[in-house]
Amino acid sequence: MPAVLPPAPGPADQWFWDGVNNEQLLIQRCAQCGKLRHPPAPMCGDCHSLEWNAEPVSGRGTVYTWIVSHHPTEPDDSPRIVALIELEEGVRFVSNLTDVDPDHVANDMAVELCFATFENGDETFVLPQFRPATVAAGS
Ligand code: ZN
Repeated sequence: MPAVLPPAPGPADQWFWDGVNNEQLLIQRCAQCGKLRHPPAPMCGDCHSLEWNAEPVSGRGTVYTWIVSHHPTEPDDSPRIVALIELEEGVRFVSNLTDVDPDHVANDMAVELCFATFENGDETFVLPQFRPATVAAGS
């Protein structure tokens, strides 16, 4: 599989990656109007407030849409599924979908957050991933 690149946090999203390293998926919520937003941004797109909080989401969601990514030059025995996940809180999140054969992925399938550790050279890092839900929705 082609190498996975480590995240490169900056001042605007260090808090997000700190959450990932604590196995939490944190999403910004506008402190003024309450709207959730992702990816991280300094200003609310609705009310233009610069005040926000970060709160953990449940990790439950569904597949909104997805593709199978094939690297153009490297041998690819285990194609990577890139999915747009609709979190139950109402925001969408781009992630890899793991633990499922691409032939078995479908829109609206229930998925759940998990965290996977990757290595690239000397670096070890954690990325949020999604996998088919192990607990049925509503239970
Ligand atoms: Zn707002």
